Amino acid sequence: MMQVASMHFKERAHVKLNDEVLQGNLRKIKGKFVAKRKASLVELDDFEGTRDAGRAIRQRALDNLDVWLEMFEQNATERGATVLFAQNPAEINKLVLDIATHHGARKIIKSKSMVSEESALDHAIEGAGLKVVETDLGEYILQINDYEPPSHIIGPALHKSKEEVADLFHRVHGTPRKDGIDELCVEARGVLRDHYLNADMGITGGNFFVAETGSVVLVTNEGNATLATTLPKVHVAISGIEKIVPTLEDVATLMRLLPRSATGQSISNYVDILTGPKGRGEYHGAEHMYFIVVDSGRSDVLGSEVREALRCIRCGACMNHCPVYQNVGGHAYGWVYPGPIGSVLTPMYVGLENALDLPQASTLCGQCAVVCPVRIPLPDLLRKLREREFVEDLRPWSERTALRLWARVARYPGLYAWSTRLAVRFLRSRAGSNGMIEKLPLGSGWTSGRAMPAPAGRTFRDLYAERKAAAGKSSP
Ligand code: SF4
Repeated sequence: MMQVASMHFKERAHVKLNDEVLQGNLRKIKGKFVAKRKASLVELDDFEGTRDAGRAIRQRALDNLDVWLEMFEQNATERGATVLFAQNPAEINKLVLDIATHHGARKIIKSKSMVSEESALDHAIEGAGLKVVETDLGEYILQINDYEPPSHIIGPALHKSKEEVADLFHRVHGTPRKDGIDELCVEARGVLRDHYLNADMGITGGNFFVAETGSVVLVTNEGNATLATTLPKVHVAISGIEKIVPTLEDVATLMRLLPRSATGQSISNYVDILTGPKGRGEYHGAEHMYFIVVDSGRSDVLGSEVREALRCIRCGACMNHCPVYQNVGGHAYGWVYPGPIGSVLTPMYVGLENALDLPQASTLCGQCAVVCPVRIPLPDLLRKLREREFVEDLRPWSERTALRLWARVARYPGLYAWSTRLAVRFLRSRAGSNGMIEKLPLGSGWTSGRAMPAPAGRTFRDLYAERKAAAGKSSP
């Protein structure tokens, strides 16, 4: 399993906020996806209606997941593919290595697969003495940079500048340093071409597994998945159990949402729908096709209070719009999935006790829920995890004691009014002449990176009572 560092979100976020190179790179991309998404939505007559349809499709799949999975297995098998199930990350790696051994594969090319990041599959392949080459440009950049982890689910190397990539290619490829993005792409294409031509096996993720046809749908922009699934003699598609959709018509609806929400494209450059291995007389395609359908914590999520998170179609819109993600980048989250959806899924997949900061890594501004194409109520789910942390005594004792105290006081309106009056006066007394609080005892988190506006010195109740009394006087 990929190493989990989510327990250190706070420290990592501080480091990232002070990383000037990263901050410069993040500033350059900030808002780009947001603007592109917004522009692309106007093409849809009824975006909100399409979102409702997308939500319903994903929910229908999850509500009867066992039925759709069985149907998928049956149809994929009938079309000549082999469907395998992995319960955990170790099983994913074992199944892949067994398939490679069975077919005598020595070199494996990979298209982007977030599930394979969960199991650190590349390391397992290399540990078995085989060669693996990532073919998604972002993933390739990260692989040759000592397997740096991805920082975004659709743009794994978004945190890197063109200059950093130019230096990397010059160092690793031993070629003259290039300046332009086009030149760098041509160079990567040249390096990857040979690998496509002599690889024995191709591994991809799967945006959707289609129950009615037993197909995998791959949505890409670089065409690398098309090559990785048609040139080698073996194709292995790996994805989670939740990626099932009932029909191809459902895929058509979801495809109206996915590229627009992700990159602001009406449709991605390539959409591959692959059903079974190459048939008799067919020229293109792998001779052997495998599906690895992964649970790895997903059944537990399905039975939990955050089950709606499984509707996710991995568009990345929630992170693109998240003020926290925009400022700290993806690596701060410490595991495979960053941003708001990562803050829900990671604690569920790696254990809440190993990712305590993530449900707190949100301002709850609600923007993630506003943009999610399948209407996942992310702030609600984050709140549910916060509640679970409290109930399971996973929060620091000071926080728990403060909340318990607050809950007690809140039961007595008179006492509550008196203590809040005391609290706002105290806060007011901490303000400087500019009305801002620079330092707050026991609340340094609020003031260490910025000044906090001081309250008016009167409570909401006081102000409300005052306004009510004034309204009473002025009415006839
Ligand atoms: S939670 Fe919604 S917005 Fe975020 S990646 Fe998933 S589908 Fe996209």
